[in-house]
Amino acid sequence: MKIAIIGSGVSGLACAARLAKAGLTPTVFDKGRGIGGRMATRRAESGFQFDHGAQMIPCQNESFRAVLDAAKAAGHVADWTTGDGGLQPVGTPGMTALAKFLAQGLDLHQGTEISTVARTSEGWELSADHLLGTFDRVVCTAPVPQAIKLVGHALSDPIDHVSYAPSLTLMVALKRPLDAPDTQSAPNEALAWIAHDSAKPGRQTQNCWVAQASADWSATHLELAKDEIATLMLDLFLTRHGLGAPDVAYATAHRWRYALVTKPLGQAFVTSADGTLYAGGDWCFGPNIEHAWQSGTAIANDILRAA
Ligand SMILES: Cc1cc2nc3c(=O)[nH]c(=O)nc-3n(C[C@H](O)[C@H](O)[C@H](O)COP(=O)(O)OP(=O)(O)OC[C@H]3O[C@@H](n4cnc5c(N)ncnc54)[C@H](O)[C@@H]3O)c2cc1C
Repeated sequence: MKIAIIGSGVSGLACAARLAKAGLTPTVFDKGRGIGGRMATRRAESGFQFDHGAQMIPCQNESFRAVLDAAKAAGHVADWTTGDGGLQPVGTPGMTALAKFLAQGLDLHQGTEISTVARTSEGWELSADHLLGTFDRVVCTAPVPQAIKLVGHALSDPIDHVSYAPSLTLMVALKRPLDAPDTQSAPNEALAWIAHDSAKPGRQTQNCWVAQASADWSATHLELAKDEIATLMLDLFLTRHGLGAPDVAYATAHRWRYALVTKPLGQAFVTSADGTLYAGGDWCFGPNIEHAWQSGTAIANDILRAA
């Protein structure tokens, strides 16, 4: 069976890994350069490193816990003692390490943006800037607004009631250590989260920090140019910590338009009427990595069940 998976975020990789374990050879396409989707690690030219998407890997689900335990045993995940003394799993040496763990042995095609998914008498024809092939099953794990554009025409149920909050994120490297907690939750109305990235286990860099704007602040400033976002957020970060521009070695910002699911679908996936095209992702169950893993795994199990 020829299976195409759109997206090498956690849901796409979880789906592909489960199918591969059952002896199938899915092909994974992603428009991004690196794998992991929103579970992302930025390595700046200057050598600084930041987890600018997901920060930690909370886990309630027993099956996902088994995956995390295996990733820990293989050195891709470790527990981080956060500022409030809690323990949270994180990827090591960066959050994308969990994606790399899931992706082992898979057929990955990065830098391939799927532009059309079309039904033919032979199956589902996928194209990027050229024809990629015809597949018996297609799994789309893009965030909902992108999934609707790509495969919305083929889905038997609507998904447009799913909603997201945006997140504007600052990455800043300081020239010297900062005397502040390693994590700060909702330090003020503008900022929702501050983390000392270099304090996570296995990091090689020092004095790298990440700050996420609150959902309201992010929505208000979403359309600003990235350097304007960086300037405003850097000012918020420096003011909060009594620092000034000379303390900064590096700063940049990232715009996550569809960051955190605020209203999920409430079921593991949706399909086309004939059950050969699937759409899923974190947006099926909630805002976290484990929700993405649950949806991707459920899709793979459904493909295997019907095979
Ligand atoms: C700032 C931020 C902080 C977060 N913090 C946490 C946290 O601390 N803990 C936690 O558990 N979760 C957190 N999350 C949420 C977590 O990152 C997501 O729930 C999870 O990574 C979603 O995985 P996914 O595979 O469903 O989607 P994604 O990671 O979005 O993957 C979808 C993939 O599809 C690809 N794609 C889309 N369209 C196309 C196309 N046309 N062609 C090819 N490829 C395409 C994208 O490039 C992407 O790689 C955070 C998210 C953000 C943005």
